[in-house]
Amino acid sequence: MADDEPILMIPGPTEFRQSVLNAMSTKGTSHVSPAFIEQYGASLDALVDVFQAERESSASFALAGSGSLGWDLTVSNLMESGDRALIVNSGYFGDSFGDAVQSYGHECVHALPEKGKIGDVPLAERVASVLGERGPFKLVAMTHVDTSTGVRVNVQAIAAAVRRVDERVIVAVDGVCSIGAERFLMAEWDVDVAFTGSQKALGVPPGLCCMVARKRALDAHAARSTPSLGYYCSWARWLPIMANYRARKPSYFATPAVQLIMALHTSLTTAVLGDGGMEARYAEHERVASAFRAALAALNIDLVAASANVAANTLTAARYPANVDGVALRASMSKHGVIVAGGLHRDIKAQYFRVGHMGLSATMPEHVERVVGALESALLEQSYELARNNVALKAFQESYQKTK
Ligand SMILES: *Cc1c(COP(=O)(O)O)cnc(C)c1O
Repeated sequence: MADDEPILMIPGPTEFRQSVLNAMSTKGTSHVSPAFIEQYGASLDALVDVFQAERESSASFALAGSGSLGWDLTVSNLMESGDRALIVNSGYFGDSFGDAVQSYGHECVHALPEKGKIGDVPLAERVASVLGERGPFKLVAMTHVDTSTGVRVNVQAIAAAVRRVDERVIVAVDGVCSIGAERFLMAEWDVDVAFTGSQKALGVPPGLCCMVARKRALDAHAARSTPSLGYYCSWARWLPIMANYRARKPSYFATPAVQLIMALHTSLTTAVLGDGGMEARYAEHERVASAFRAALAALNIDLVAASANVAANTLTAARYPANVDGVALRASMSKHGVIVAGGLHRDIKAQYFRVGHMGLSATMPEHVERVVGALESALLEQSYELARNNVALKAFQESYQKTK
């Protein structure tokens, strides 16, 4: 990346490591060549480790498609005619999970935050009471980090509350904006199926859906009374293929995204699981995110998240101050070298912006410092006097140093 090029600080795609980009720049390679079989198998093993599930009894998938494919895989393989789903809804991506459920002809019920306020999260007790009153459900689905609001739900508490009401329900997590960065302990929290997309915290160009399914989900799939809908999505077709690659044997159902898998292999083995492992990844993201929140606080800028407690560590959604023109602000930030994203939640779209700080950028405080600097300059251009004297940059650095 040339120094004068703006850096991409949206909540995915992210900036990518040169080593990851180099890994995918290869000559034509067969999907059944021994070297590729080893990389695919090792990537599937590594995914189970990243999701913190059991190697032996869990299945993993890395399939061509984006994160959204995870919704189709979950619904088509785990729900049958007459089944209903409960969506723990913390924003735009909860709505999408619900749309995916309905697109296969299933009914879904949404558990919303208590006061219905954007930026709040549904609490475990509420999910449990909806489950008790309106169940039974086949599936309870939640979005770990909702990328439209920058809030993180307490997956551990919700999964435990769900389990107390119903032992058999399938707990599904959309971890597209969290897995690889936010603490996610799939086995310990007893989550049954979870997925992410390559371009978010895994630090790989867009094009892969990565999923892990644990025993309860695999058993529920095996016990279906009807075949799953869909051809490319079918676990029945993919499971033996993934198992073969993990056993380092050639296999074919549909051509894997060979070069993206090579990039995934490099990113998982050298970056995501490297250098201190997952605990180090969680700490890195928390550190840079809280320093960025400190910078915003110094500017008196509000988060969309109802409290710092529920604010995600992979991205921050922040409200424009009064009298600041958001479109002009983002255009100016881009002139100052950083690309950030606009709002996504339809009810407040024009009122806030989003900054991604996951993957490579979580390990490079200078990336987020550039965002803070660009934000200060852009705010000053609109006569936002609180942005004088680099107050935000100083707050960022102070917080970042303190939490070392
Ligand atoms: C980005 C995202 C998706 C969709 O992923 P695509 O790769 O764009 O299909 C789904 N859920 C969440 C939480 C996301 O952040």
